[in-house]
Amino acid sequence: MSGWPDEKSFPKAARAGRGRTVVRIGRGAGAVEVGGAAVVLVAGPCAVEGWETLAEAARAAKAAGARLLRGGAFKPRSSPYAFQGLGEEGLRLLARAREETGLGVVTEVLDPRDVPLVEEYADCFQIGARNMQNQPLLRAVGRARRPVLLKRAPSGTLEELLLAAEYVLDSGNPDVVLCERGIRTFEPATRNTFDLSAVPALRRLSHLPVIADPSHGTGRRDLVPDMALAAVAAGADGLLVEVHPRPAEALSDGPQALTPAMLAELAPRLRAVAAAVGRTL
Ligand code: PEP
Ligand code: MN
Repeated sequence: MSGWPDEKSFPKAARAGRGRTVVRIGRGAGAVEVGGAAVVLVAGPCAVEGWETLAEAARAAKAAGARLLRGGAFKPRSSPYAFQGLGEEGLRLLARAREETGLGVVTEVLDPRDVPLVEEYADCFQIGARNMQNQPLLRAVGRARRPVLLKRAPSGTLEELLLAAEYVLDSGNPDVVLCERGIRTFEPATRNTFDLSAVPALRRLSHLPVIADPSHGTGRRDLVPDMALAAVAAGADGLLVEVHPRPAEALSDGPQALTPAMLAELAPRLRAVAAAVGRTL
């Protein structure tokens, strides 16, 4: 049974014969276009842990050709005892890293009450996988003035992801980027099962840009480069990749963080695959 979604249920997100939407992330002339000919690399640590690690990760991202810096100041951790993020201090550090590198900032917002605060510092809201169906949060970023990177829930179908995007669009924000980040299956070897077919499927179903996150999609740094290359080959408009200068010391998601050296080695290979499918990076 295929159960291909009916575009009529998400009229604003649906492809419906429209061309591809380009979402601009960032301020003024430095804005980055997601969904155009160039594949956009978004890189950075899972969490903002402090200035030094953030700055090192940001410099590595920039050197590898990333256009946007990622990093969570508010972290959705499974355990209440795990590092929860630096909050507003983390947002300040991200803004400082933007000043230093020129990279735009993508960061997660967990709570509708924090939308104005995150909006002040960030160039793009990330809605995390755990919040894909948090409708009050979707409505809140839908009323805000920054683009939204919307991650697929670990148990979310493509139709549910597109309906979540529909909430943001219907609330008045036209700038949504969809993100495949792996789904929960019976396979325990990888943290999630990276659903590569979601990339071309979402691009067929929707006019919105689609990016891929092979870091959460696999949970293992040794698998990230190959899946990143595969995602670009499959048509992804961008990649979200975690990088940390010292993954063994990371406060979250260390096992899936690329080192700066791995990211530097990956970049020219991504460029080659992008060129093979008629894109740049
Ligand atoms: C993240 O990007 O660090 C994150 C928490 O991702 P996800 O919501 O996909 O688990
Ligand atoms: Mn993470």
